[in-house]
Amino acid sequence: MGRNYLAHVREMGNDEKLPPLYFAKAPDMVVDSGSTIPYPPITSNLQHEVELVVAMKSGGADIPVEKALDHVWGYAVGFDMTRRDVQQVAAKAGRPWEVGKSFDNSGPCGAVHPASEVGHLSKGRIHVSVNGQVKQDSDLSQMIWDVPHIIHHLSLQVTVAAGDLIFTGTPEGVSAVVRGDELVGAIDGLSELRIKYA
Ligand code: MN
Repeated sequence: MGRNYLAHVREMGNDEKLPPLYFAKAPDMVVDSGSTIPYPPITSNLQHEVELVVAMKSGGADIPVEKALDHVWGYAVGFDMTRRDVQQVAAKAGRPWEVGKSFDNSGPCGAVHPASEVGHLSKGRIHVSVNGQVKQDSDLSQMIWDVPHIIHHLSLQVTVAAGDLIFTGTPEGVSAVVRGDELVGAIDGLSELRIKYA
């Protein structure tokens, strides 16, 4: 999901009143915590977006808001890695964002914790540091759309299924990553996500 924290919508200069926005990455783009991954091609402005990830245990179409959490298996910390320069060129040309968002190793994801142990997350600190320096630092309570509404709206567009990982948008403070950088993402109550760029 894109544009789910008001301060990030504003830092990107986007419309604050638009309905929820979704795009997809392929399953083989997910990377485990602890991985060292190559800096991707065709970009000189790779940016981190730290996000709460929702892992589904079941799904369906047209899921009501009040039933949405029944379909959640658990939660993790994720990075929606973004070739920002490529994304913005595509957007300006009226082309799909896909090439800016969907590429090898673009979806690092930490350990998934079951909701039966950590509960359902609607508040708590979310932050990311690069080489020990904090870059994004916010709270899940700042999400414009909470997890039940995110699942509901997505299920109106496409059938949601067990095993789906839903990245729920990023707070403000996105910045560029270079070769050699080490990223550590964290959300209160969940395992850290550590990624290094070769
Ligand atoms: Mn994102």
